[in-house]
Amino acid sequence: MVCAFGVGAAAQSSPSSAATSAPAAPKATRLDLLRGAYGEDRANNDLISYHLDIRVDPEKKYISGKNTIRFKMLKDGNRLHLDLNEALKIDRILLGTTALKYERDSGAVFVNFPETLNAGQTYAIDFYYSGNPVEIGRFGSITFKRDPAGHPWINTACEETGASMWWPNKDQWHDEVENMEISVAVPSGLMDVSNGKFIGKTDLGDGYTRWDWKVQYPINNYDVSLNIGNYEHFGDKLGDLPLDFYALPEDLDKAKRQFAQAKGMIEAYQHYFGEYPFMKDGYKLIEVPYSGMEHQSAVTYGNHFANGYLERDWTGVGISPRFDFIIIHESGHEWFGNAVSAADRSDMWIHEGWTTYLESLYVEYMWGHDDAIKYISGYKAKVKDERPIISARGVNATPPQDQYFKGILFLNTLRSVVNDDAKWWALLHDFYQHFKYQNIMTEDVVAYFNTYTGMNLTPIFNQYLRHTAIPTLELKFDESKGTVAYRWKADEVGFAMPVRVGAADKWQIVDATTKWKTMATAGLGKKDFGVATDLYYIDVSRE
Ligand SMILES: [Zn+2]
Repeated sequence: MVCAFGVGAAAQSSPSSAATSAPAAPKATRLDLLRGAYGEDRANNDLISYHLDIRVDPEKKYISGKNTIRFKMLKDGNRLHLDLNEALKIDRILLGTTALKYERDSGAVFVNFPETLNAGQTYAIDFYYSGNPVEIGRFGSITFKRDPAGHPWINTACEETGASMWWPNKDQWHDEVENMEISVAVPSGLMDVSNGKFIGKTDLGDGYTRWDWKVQYPINNYDVSLNIGNYEHFGDKLGDLPLDFYALPEDLDKAKRQFAQAKGMIEAYQHYFGEYPFMKDGYKLIEVPYSGMEHQSAVTYGNHFANGYLERDWTGVGISPRFDFIIIHESGHEWFGNAVSAADRSDMWIHEGWTTYLESLYVEYMWGHDDAIKYISGYKAKVKDERPIISARGVNATPPQDQYFKGILFLNTLRSVVNDDAKWWALLHDFYQHFKYQNIMTEDVVAYFNTYTGMNLTPIFNQYLRHTAIPTLELKFDESKGTVAYRWKADEVGFAMPVRVGAADKWQIVDATTKWKTMATAGLGKKDFGVATDLYYIDVSRE
């Protein structure tokens, strides 16, 4: 499916206000453009489905098989831009029985059709490939490991590097298939756990067994996952939602204890946003040898079966040790990242800023507002403010880690700006429901929030997302008159944001802008005059 907001040429330029203060992005290379641009040979078609049908040989670290790619032409054309890492061999690409010609340019594969494909028509090609994929990136993309007992343990996690590191697809964020079949043949005795609903397994009679999975919703390429190992399965239900858990036999007891947190997590997120997004596919947690990843309906888990993040207090304020960070964070992506997806990596804060905010919603649901605010404020120490959290578009750019930390602090700020919790909860729910199963850009988020609240939140979104610095509330006291002058110092032209000031037990909301205004301090001196910096992520200067 294609995203709601066009990431075509018109959307490539950033708003003019951002252009003046944002540092120049590193110049995109030809390879960045090849990987990240939604060019003509990608834009001329709309994905319908994939059927990835492969065999994985653990001993040879070898994959072979095909992806059947169904798509609808949006324009007449005779060329498609697909992707497959150059370490893998293309065996053949067929349209029916016709072998198609193709050209490779690093990871790009340009498939040429002998006749024009017509706009509005649906086509399917079979893309056969084989080879030894390379391990690259934070989690290796695809790794051929062994579990502690010596059985093969093969897992994929390829968000950063792209799914085309191990299988052929249209490797970009703009367009998703509407559904997908995943068939994986592995040596009999091993199991493959992939995304979607388990359809069945078939003994192929040659020492291999094929595991078939069906994804019944749109899915990001990088969410498509293999987890091949000597897994044990146990199951549960939350209402009609099947919960399926997979762990190594030696970890089964620990998994049964720790994975029990999944129910409370799903209940919390359902409370705020509505039904779990992938009901027909179910929810799975699968043990893996790396920390974890939000693979759609098949969340992978490697957090040592302990609370916190890799046994640490993640935000350092004593709240994180109450829950398993990987279960809470990676599963939050089912709502933001997997159901609501960004249409370009540049706007990945829609995944990470939102999901980090979901952590605090979980805390609020479980332990109340004060603990949520404490948890959120714990993230301040992690923010670096080195560059804007929205990166250059169309070049497969990775935003800085601030997209997580500044993202949660910004959304908490926005709640204070809306200043009406009933409205805020309704807005979060309706925003999610409106955009679920779509690929969107920040402009879509801002337009929805502006319309819903009747406020002009655009300068606030821009300041936090498109500039490096956060706004500073400048205060100038005149103690002889008992007044304070206040204004915002911000990069964004026309920046205005109400803020709570004065006495902490009875905050007063002032409509601060970039122009000086004056208020009485009601007897509070320079040291006692407070600013609600737990509710707004801002700097304050006093003189
Ligand atoms: Zn995340």
